[in-house]
Amino acid sequence: MSSQIAVFPGSFDPITIGHVSTIERSIGLFGKIIIAIGQNSQKEYLFSLEQRLTWLKEIFAGNNRIEIESYEGLTIDFCRQKNAGFILRGLRNSTDFEYERTIASLNKSINAEIETICIISLPEYSHISSTIVKELIRYKGKFAHLVPTCVSRDTWQA
Ligand code: ADP
Repeated sequence: MSSQIAVFPGSFDPITIGHVSTIERSIGLFGKIIIAIGQNSQKEYLFSLEQRLTWLKEIFAGNNRIEIESYEGLTIDFCRQKNAGFILRGLRNSTDFEYERTIASLNKSINAEIETICIISLPEYSHISSTIVKELIRYKGKFAHLVPTCVSRDTWQA
């Protein structure tokens, strides 16, 4: 496994300034970060995969150490396929911590070579989630301050 490559998996439905902050703070730790949109057939998404990929590509255009991909199946299998040694995740609160601990332990039991690295979110971003943004969009609340400008530009807002 390459210790240089990290996969940052998520739904990014949509990407928020919290995700962007985690990625920007982590890029110095790795040679390359692959931001990977996981396709879960059980989940319903507000934005199409194509739209979410387009936003990620626009936000990180020009950064040759960040790649954008999508995948189906297990994150750990995608990491192996990409020769990635790390899974990158963000921690906002104790709920995130309990969830991430379970997934990280499970992944470790499947492939001991891949390490999960969690970055603690900045306090000013710890209340931001894609779920909250989706609720604001649904009920016509203001959300532009929570997302990168391309997301608010392309989405109806109050
Ligand atoms: P998933 O559907 O896998 O939870 P998300 O797109 O919601 O994917 O999140 C991807 C990762 O980004 C997760 O590790 C999540 O904890 C982290 N994250 C989400 N919002 C924030 C935030 N505001 N600050 C820091 N990390 C965040």
